[in-house]
Order: sequence, then structure tokens, then C-alpha cells
Amino acid sequence: MNFESLGLAPELVRALSDVGYTIPTPIQAEAIPLALAGHDLMGGAQTGTGKTAAFALPVLHRLAQDGPKRGPRKPRALVLTPTRELAVQVNDSLRSYGKHLRMNTATVYGGVGMQPQIEALRRGVDILVACPGRLLDHLQHRSVDLSGIEVLVLDEADRMLDMGFLPAIKRVLSALPKARQTMLFSATFEESIKKLALELLKDPRQVQVTPQNATAASVTHVVHPVDSSRKRDLLIDILSKRHTDQILVFGRTKHGCNRLAEQIEKSGIPAVAIHGNKSQSQRLKALRDFKSGEARVLVATDVAARGLDIPLLPLVINFDLPMVAEDYVHRIGRTGRAGASGEAVSLVAPDEGGLLRAIQRLLKADIAMQEVEGYVPSTGIRMGNDNASRGRPSGQRPPRRDGAAPRGRRPHAGGGERHAHAGPKGHGPRGGGERRQRVGD
Ligand code: AMP
Repeated sequence: MNFESLGLAPELVRALSDVGYTIPTPIQAEAIPLALAGHDLMGGAQTGTGKTAAFALPVLHRLAQDGPKRGPRKPRALVLTPTRELAVQVNDSLRSYGKHLRMNTATVYGGVGMQPQIEALRRGVDILVACPGRLLDHLQHRSVDLSGIEVLVLDEADRMLDMGFLPAIKRVLSALPKARQTMLFSATFEESIKKLALELLKDPRQVQVTPQNATAASVTHVVHPVDSSRKRDLLIDILSKRHTDQILVFGRTKHGCNRLAEQIEKSGIPAVAIHGNKSQSQRLKALRDFKSGEARVLVATDVAARGLDIPLLPLVINFDLPMVAEDYVHRIGRTGRAGASGEAVSLVAPDEGGLLRAIQRLLKADIAMQEVEGYVPSTGIRMGNDNASRGRPSGQRPPRRDGAAPRGRRPHAGGGERHAHAGPKGHGPRGGGERRQRVGD
């Protein structure tokens, strides 16, 4: 299977070969032929699966069929994204895949001036990548005309709803022609997404890939129990030992992330933080510095990190466990990409047992505990009602609440540097019945 056999225009195939893609990822192999045939799509895929190209290539192909247009024109394709970073990345992908086609693309997002965006729109745009809030501003200012939209893509629709964009999305939808192709991509399909999909999509084809990274056997998960007050020292110890790696560290709050990045810097390891309080240019600079290797550590909140295109990270560290268990799956999706091995290390304080339990329930597997000498907390991790892991020696798993034998691979017992596999196997990030609560951005 190659991109040519999927029916893509030769200019696109050439651009893909320029960037070194030879084999379509599973979501691309499934979605591209359906999208080229004009179907609406409902795609279950998260970052790391190649979902961007899965919609970007058919959009470019479709627009290219009519040949290059001259003079100012209104957008024919619209991609909605939850964050500015994702908008920039989608736009970069469109430009890279469409480099042998004459296609104008533009991004509109908040946090920067309207005027340059107004001018770009006036010059003429074929594909517009937009965050819903700022797009609504442009509609109200009449600086954008969406009456020529032929293809609409909602990227990371679940996150857009989480971020409260539904009203803005609905207003944008009312400005679009009814006759169009629509593709909706989402990592999860809870009721609100299904309802939106029902309203938006006509006779949609479903394409679903299991989150490759979350289920990759090559990702090793490990928990280091540690008192909150010692987490920072332990983190810096781990970072110092892994002196050649680019490492992504997740924190729960903007403030905490900032402070942590400063403290890491003070210990002599170049680090940057990325979160919603930073200006757009600061966020992009932080990401650039991390990608170029100038900063070795990127400290991020969940929302800020969502959708970031950071290839092949060997190690993701959860300084705090996420408040929402599903975010654990998103976080570890940053490691072990494309078959490379990866590690997800969580620093867990005794009072974070409830969060750990929610994550293990979601993964349907336990995560191996590994005490680190010098950092063993005075009390065991309190796992909530069943107190399953209190006082357990490292590497032992709690009994399952239904009394059945534990599933998944047994973690290695004992300390040392050996990490145990407790990888989730083939389960989507659903279930568990956690209360949704978001802290951070
Ligand atoms: P995405 O899920 O769209 O964020 O893509 C994840 C990463 O995979 C990005 O770094 C892409 O550049 C890369 N990628 C996407 N499609 C392919 C492909 N067919 N072959 C190799 N890399 C790819």
C-alpha cells in the first residue's frame, strides 16, 4: 500500500515523498479513499496516528482538481481546531503536503491582532484553519466569507467541546453552505460528540484506529511513589540521568509548570514551559526551542500540550497525575510513536492514589510501582476505598476489585532500573466513569 494507490494527485504523492512518508498510516489508508469518494467521515483517532494527513490530503486533492485559481478568492475548505498550536501545525502540514500545488492557506486564532488576519483573508485564501472563537469574531466583522466552503473539518472535536466552543461552532456552522463534505475527528466519542456528529454529518463513514501509542506494547509505564515535597528533587535526578533525551513533563497547573521549568533551569538543564497564560509567540518559541533541542525539557499542561506535533519522545514524565484519567492516555501518546519504544513515568504522592486508581481502571491494567532509593514516601499510596496499595512492596499489583486474576503482563518485582510493562492492551480511552474535571488552562 502506498499513497499513489490511494488515488491521490501526483503533486501530493511527490510532496509526501519529499517529507519522507512512503506508507500510509492505518487511519490514512482507511480515511483517504472514503474522503476522496466524497463521503462524510467520523474519525476516531488522536494525535500520533497521522490523522492530520488523513484529512489534509483529501482536502488538498479535492481543491486541486479544479486547477489553480487566480485573484482573490474566498475559502473553499475550513479546518476548525481547538488550539492555536494545533491550527499552526495543521497549516504547516497543509503547506508542506500542498507545496507543489498553488494553494493559499491561512490561520486565524485569538491572542494576536485581527489586522494581519484580515489582510490575509482579503488577499485570498483557499484553505482556512481556524479556532472557533476568533473565526466568529471575523464573521461578525464581516472580514471572512464562508459561503464558498465545500469541505469542513473538525479536528479534535472532543477537545473543542471540552473547551466550551460548542456555541461558537454552531454559529460558524450557520454561515456555511449546507451542501458540503464534513469530516469530524475526535479521540473520544461521548454523547455530546455523537450528538454534534448527528447534526453535522450526512450518512457518515466511520473510521477508527485504536490509539496506537496508548496501546503500543513498546510503551513502558511506571509509577514512582514519592512525597509531594520530594517530587521536584526526584524529577531533577531523573532528568540529570537522562542527559541526552528530549523529555516532556506534564504538570497540572499553569503556575506549577512555570515554577517547575524555572527550577529545572536552575539545576542546569535547559527547560521551557508551555501553557495557556503564555502569549502566542512565547508558546511557539517554547515549542521551537524544544523541537530544535535548545531546550531539553518541555513542561506543559494538558490543554497546552494537546495536539502538539512532537515526534518520537523517549520519555514522558507525569509530575502530577492528570485530574481526568483520559488525559493520561493523551499524555503517554507523546511517547513510543511509530513503533519506537517509550517510557511513561509518573511521580505519585500518597494522596494521588484516587487519580491513579481511575487511570488504572481506564487502562484496564495496573501500572507497576517502583520505589526509588532515597525517595520512598513515609506512607504508601492511598488508593481510596479499597486501600489496595497501602504498604505494598514495589512491583506488586493490587487485587482486582472483582476478585479475578489481574490482566495484562505482570510487572517485574524489585527495584533497580528495570521498568515493568503494564501497558493497556487494545482498549480505547473510555470507560471508568470518572467525573470530568479540568484543571490547568
Ligand atoms: P498526527 O497524528 O497528524 O499529529 O501525525 C503524527 C506524526 O506522524 C507527525 O509527525 C507526522 O508528520 C507523522 N506522519 C503522518 N503520516 C505519516 C506517514 N504516512 N508516514 C510517516 N510519518 C507520518
